[in-house]
Order: sequence, then C-alpha cells, then structure tokens
Amino acid sequence: MNKLFEKLENLKILVSDGAWGTELIKSGINSNICPEILNLENPDKVFNIAKQYIEAGSDIISTNSFGASKIKLNSYSLSNKTYIINKTAAEISKKAAGDKLVMGSIGPCGKFLLTDEINESELEESFYLQIKGLVDGGVDCLLFETFYDLDELSIGINIAKDFTNIPIICSLTFNKNNDGNFFTLMGNSIENAFEELLKFGANIVGVNCGNGFNTTIEILKQIKLKFPSQKLIVQPNAGLPELVSEKIIYTETPEKIVTAVENYLELGVSIIGGCCGTTQEHIKTIRKLVDQWRNKNR
Ligand SMILES: [Zn+2]
Repeated sequence: MNKLFEKLENLKILVSDGAWGTELIKSGINSNICPEILNLENPDKVFNIAKQYIEAGSDIISTNSFGASKIKLNSYSLSNKTYIINKTAAEISKKAAGDKLVMGSIGPCGKFLLTDEINESELEESFYLQIKGLVDGGVDCLLFETFYDLDELSIGINIAKDFTNIPIICSLTFNKNNDGNFFTLMGNSIENAFEELLKFGANIVGVNCGNGFNTTIEILKQIKLKFPSQKLIVQPNAGLPELVSEKIIYTETPEKIVTAVENYLELGVSIIGGCCGTTQEHIKTIRKLVDQWRNKNR
C-alpha cells in the first residue's frame, strides 16, 4: 500500500502544514523574487520552514514548488530550471520530514486556456517537467492546490497518471457570490466541480485558500452531503488579508480557528492544515485539537 493511504488508515486524520509564501516573505526575502528559486539559491531558508512545520506537529508537509510550473517560472526567465527547482524542492522537504510524508505542491499556471493565453500542449509540457521533478525528488503524493479551472487541472492529472501511480490530492478554491453560494472562478458550483474532479481520478479532494477557516465549514458541509464517503483535505487561509498601517494582516489568529477545526473533525475530514497567513502557531493549535479528538474517540 502507498505510504499516504497506510498513514491515513492508521491515523485517520493527518495534520498538514501552514503557509509557505507568507512565511518566506516574513523570513526576509524580497517579495519581487521568485520564491521557488530559493530551493537552489537559499535552501536553508526553505528547509527551516519545512522543519518548523514538522516541529509544530505536521504529519505531512508540502514542497516550495507552488509556482514552479514551467509557464510560471518563465515570467522570471527561469523556465529552463523547471525540473531541477522541483526536484530540489522535493528533496528539501523530504530531508526535513524524516519519517513524515511529503506532498508535491503544484499551483495553477496563472494563464487561461479559455482565452488562448496558453494551449494544451504548452500546459502539458509545463506540468510534465514540474511533476517529473517532484516525483524524482521523492514526494509521497501530489497536491494540486488553489485550482479554479477544471480543464487545466484535468490536463495536470492526466500527465501525472501517465508516469506515476502515487496518490493525487486536488484542492480547489471557491468564491462566495452575493447570494451566499460558492463558485470557482470559472463558474463551477461545488457539486459540479467535485463530480468532475472525481471523474478525473483524484484520490483525495478538498478546498484551500479562499475564505478563511470559519466560512470554509459551509463548503465542506456541502461536499460531505453530496459525497459522504469521499476522503477530504482542507487548508484554508487565516481569514481574508487586511491592510493595516501598510502591513498585510490575516485576521484568523490560532484562537479563532478552534471551532472551525472542531467542525472539520466532526465532518470527518482526513487532512487538515492551512494556507496563506497560517503559521507554525496555527499548526500547533490544529495538532492539539486533532490529538484531543483522537483521545475522546478512542
Ligand atoms: Zn492561500
């Protein structure tokens, strides 16, 4: 059995990690540079973030490769380094993880198929180099995260399935419209989006970024209602960012996520972590709540 499924069978719930991007910026990197080039140029900084999440209690951490698709790296003239940036990202997280697991982070390319900004074969090559690098670097599974375009995502999943059988986790981002309903940027409802995703053959699906821990409860309830036995991942951001005296502040502090995390546990979510604005402290809080939950439900 694959390591991820084995751990899930033993532990039932896995704690993942928090933000990478906002943590790298906090560690003093210039926000204009490509965060993924640090894998090659400042691996210690990347390693320290991975390590701080392991120390906070993560069972599974990601890689510093969210923006390391060939298409995205091209905007920094780094596309010729796509493979090595991803392979190194995987190796750094594996080293920090020890016996914990690593999911290879893959984000959207930032361009649209719909408007012909990119075409399918460019996207295939872009995904291939990134996924090949992550797999060769030793990741235990792939995490397609913050996606909003199911056509783009299906191309990524197909490329992965062509040459690897490690598990595929897919996490979408939803926006709330004025009627209080949730849709992807491309207009898919929750039900429609997850129906599609499961058809593509994703093993674990869920939601990240977007709306903060508390609003995300609603999305998970809707998913659970339609797909009761599906294994889920949730990694919300720490609320919506607000600009306070020229600094970006995330409003959901670790104390403010407790009720939401308890709801996720009630709903039977399999992997719980955070996205933008979450820190080591958020992960420590989630770790504590998961352990309490486990003791109560023995
Ligand atoms: Zn995010």
